[in-house]
Amino acid sequence: MSWYEGFIDELIKCRLCPRLVKYREEVKPLPKFSKEHYWRKPVPPWGDINNAKIMIVGLAPAAHGGNRTGRMFTGDSSAQFLFKALYMAGLSSKPYSISRNDGVSLRCVYITSAVKCVPPNNKPSSDELSTCVSHWLSREIKYVNPRSIVALGRIALLGIEQALGFKAEFKHGSYVDVNGVRIFMSYHPSPRNTNTGRLKINDLVSILLLAKDYAGCT
Ligand code: SF4
Repeated sequence: MSWYEGFIDELIKCRLCPRLVKYREEVKPLPKFSKEHYWRKPVPPWGDINNAKIMIVGLAPAAHGGNRTGRMFTGDSSAQFLFKALYMAGLSSKPYSISRNDGVSLRCVYITSAVKCVPPNNKPSSDELSTCVSHWLSREIKYVNPRSIVALGRIALLGIEQALGFKAEFKHGSYVDVNGVRIFMSYHPSPRNTNTGRLKINDLVSILLLAKDYAGCT
């Protein structure tokens, strides 16, 4: 069994945060997905497992995205924005991420989240964040051993800070170097940020290209 298979096997059984376990299992399906079977477990990260040099860290799965489809950044509007940018940066085989069977592959990239279960209102408590980071994100960073990390939003950065033991101020478009790993910061591609123009597709593509260049992905 590879580290990834063992990691996922263990992760999807996690029930350490009672509030999040309850929410992920009880969240009401949207009418348009009412016939679908929701995943309702910790949502697996994915990517170019054996060749990843760039790690993308989101906040947490979306209620009707990853918590429905069972794959991080899959099936909601944030995922479509991110994958359009990844495709434009030459890091994804397709400009979308719809389901676990959509045939999309990532190149040089591993996608994960600071918190692996959907939180109510996209807001994990500080205890939930710390618990999830110490059990899962810290281990993933060790296993993947990325050269570049892209933090999508402040909470993602906070999770990375806890995992790697540093402090930095979140500033969209900037980066910080920690023991040879460069951590790039971007606003999260949430509808609130993308619909208002706070995060534009070309801005995210530029950050991904910087991460790609630093990681040495050709
Ligand atoms: Fe486990 Fe993380 Fe889910 Fe908490 S949020 S139950 S630590 S997987």
